Amino acid sequence: MTQVITEQINMEALKKAIDDVFYNQIDSTILYYLQSCVNCKACEAACPFTSTSLKYSPVNKAEVARQLYRFRFTVWGRTIGRAIGGSKKYLKLEEVETMVDYVWHCTNCGACMFVCPMGIDSGALVDLLRQVAFKAGLVPSIYKEIEQLEVSGKYWEVKAFRDAWEGLISKMKSQLGKDIPLDKKSSEVLFYASIYEALVYPDVLMKVAKILDTLKVDWTFMSKPLGIRPPLGLILGDKEGAAEVMKRILDYFTDMSPKYVMLTSGGFEYPALRYTMHEVFEIKPKYEVVHVTELLAKWYEMKRFTIESVEEAITWHDPCQLGRRGGVFEAPRVLMKALSKNFKELPSHGVNSICCSRGGGGCGLPTMIEEMAKLVGITIDDKSKKFLDSTIVPLINAGKLKVDEINKVKASEVLTGCPVCIESISFAVNYYHANTQVKHIVDLLADRIKKV
Ligand code: SF4
Ligand code: SF4
Repeated sequence: MTQVITEQINMEALKKAIDDVFYNQIDSTILYYLQSCVNCKACEAACPFTSTSLKYSPVNKAEVARQLYRFRFTVWGRTIGRAIGGSKKYLKLEEVETMVDYVWHCTNCGACMFVCPMGIDSGALVDLLRQVAFKAGLVPSIYKEIEQLEVSGKYWEVKAFRDAWEGLISKMKSQLGKDIPLDKKSSEVLFYASIYEALVYPDVLMKVAKILDTLKVDWTFMSKPLGIRPPLGLILGDKEGAAEVMKRILDYFTDMSPKYVMLTSGGFEYPALRYTMHEVFEIKPKYEVVHVTELLAKWYEMKRFTIESVEEAITWHDPCQLGRRGGVFEAPRVLMKALSKNFKELPSHGVNSICCSRGGGGCGLPTMIEEMAKLVGITIDDKSKKFLDSTIVPLINAGKLKVDEINKVKASEVLTGCPVCIESISFAVNYYHANTQVKHIVDLLADRIKKV
């Protein structure tokens, strides 16, 4: 896979990236992660990619970062480590290829950190390596082109994107039988969505609008989206590009000044827009960024509405970025328990939830990326096609773990709160012919909410 990316590798650019990106970002937390591994391998079983190959175990992927660290900062690394290959100043060509392969086999799901006796976040180390790869130009061209479209702001010139967005607004209007509020300042809820969501689940967005209207919430929607799935740079290792995009988002949120910014996506956008964006710009926002389940659970507990339950057995998949990275576990369960007395937890749930194997670094289904490329007029050359195809096996392997769990609880519906999780788990459900449906929680909830 990796030759697809590294065929024309510029070793000088890579050395510079290692110096500028890696060594410059070693702070006390990263230092702890680099120094504290006891090599117990407890993290191995938690990683969704280990089922594809043991070489993708968290400790193995992070070893690339540790080798670079040891060479300059430890006595062992400066002496015996150099002789036996346990430390490296830079990387040889084949080692670069290995590193690039590794960084595309981590979704930053955080599962390894929760099982590590030392609390090491190997995903954070892989993220550092991904930033090195980006700086050295070692990103699959198809991902980079889509991301640059977002950073430049030119995504709004793409006809297919404009049509999807404007079509969504016009459908919301005809569904509600009136104009919908756009870019309205100081409303209770700023209903946030990206182009990606408008493309993959417009029905979910329309159902959210219906809920807000039914509950007579003072809300507003965006006349233009703030990115394709912003900030894409964060998952590709483009920290600077991500900062540019986040600044635009921050300015809009600040200008609109709502009480809540509500997301339907519990993927990487959730921790990015709730935490990272405000940390990067050192701002304490006056608004609160929430996932739709958090707000609805809160309103349900305040008795703003009731929920008509269903008989079916339903289960909840915790998206990694909403749960482990975002801390949202309880709110969806409040809604799930109200939705069905037959709510069943998956054997691995909460902090132990198995990742869908996409999202924060897996970057969506290959078919979805291909579809997106077609929409924006990016040609998928043979190299890109090979790269995308090579991402399918991990999806099949990690999907088997998830499907086995779904089958154990015999759930007729798997509900979740992230568009990529829906796509990835649906792929596995179809692949293994499981008898269940995968939906956004709003899909089931919208028709069952009754205003008190
Ligand atoms: S679980 Fe933690 S200490 Fe053990 S090998 Fe993995 S990273 Fe190292
Ligand atoms: S963050 Fe998730 S995908 Fe990445 S190494 Fe850890 S367990 Fe694996």
